[in-house]
Amino acid sequence: MKLIKNYQSPNFNNRKRGKPVYIIIHYTALKNYKEALLYLCDKRKKVSSHFLINQNGYIYNLVNLNKRAWHAGTSYWEGNRDINSMSIGIELDFSSNKDNNNFSKKMIKSLIIILKKLKKKYKIKSQNILAHSDIAPLRKKDPGVKFPWKKLNKNNLVYYPNEKIRFNVKLIKKWFTKNKLVTRKKMCLFMLGVIGYNTIDINSNYSYGKLVRAYQMHYLQSNMSGKFDEITLKFMIKHFLNILLTKN
Ligand SMILES: [Zn+2]
Repeated sequence: MKLIKNYQSPNFNNRKRGKPVYIIIHYTALKNYKEALLYLCDKRKKVSSHFLINQNGYIYNLVNLNKRAWHAGTSYWEGNRDINSMSIGIELDFSSNKDNNNFSKKMIKSLIIILKKLKKKYKIKSQNILAHSDIAPLRKKDPGVKFPWKKLNKNNLVYYPNEKIRFNVKLIKKWFTKNKLVTRKKMCLFMLGVIGYNTIDINSNYSYGKLVRAYQMHYLQSNMSGKFDEITLKFMIKHFLNILLTKN
């Protein structure tokens, strides 16, 4: 894997924490990678990422990994709000309504290679490879519903709940009720909070819908209802139990 370093972004500063613990996946929402390179390296735009991968699988390294690139914006995960200080940002040359509206095989192949390297180098956990929409569900929807999370999981790179876990729905619901989680919304927010999502800033049905949709974009791409329906509930319980059983 060759990193291309002839484009350097001026948009970075010092990390406020030590080594990165998260990797955040983005798409550029721009026409092509050339436009993206100009954008991410323009001082006036005040945004950047550590890497940009184009449709041909070329990997551009725009910001030194020791530095804090500006890709996450206002965000939250597991109680942390300065995600830029704690993460590596990877932009993919993709836009849902332009010619580059597919994640090409070459692009994903390069992404797999770089994720492997970064995970090994920084000992980053699979659970900590996240979508921009996971950490900013009210503002962002990248890398979107087409992003191949399952394929990356098959390569042992990202987390995906074990769907084979068996449980008794009635028993779980009873436990929720016992713990004063009496509405479906309360159950949903409780589980998403344990998983890592920001549930503190959910103060309307609109924001609640956005959060559920962000969850579905990552884990339930075949069920993009934006509603906390029965399929989502059952899947999320599995996810929640997986997390409880694996958290130390
Ligand atoms: Zn993004």
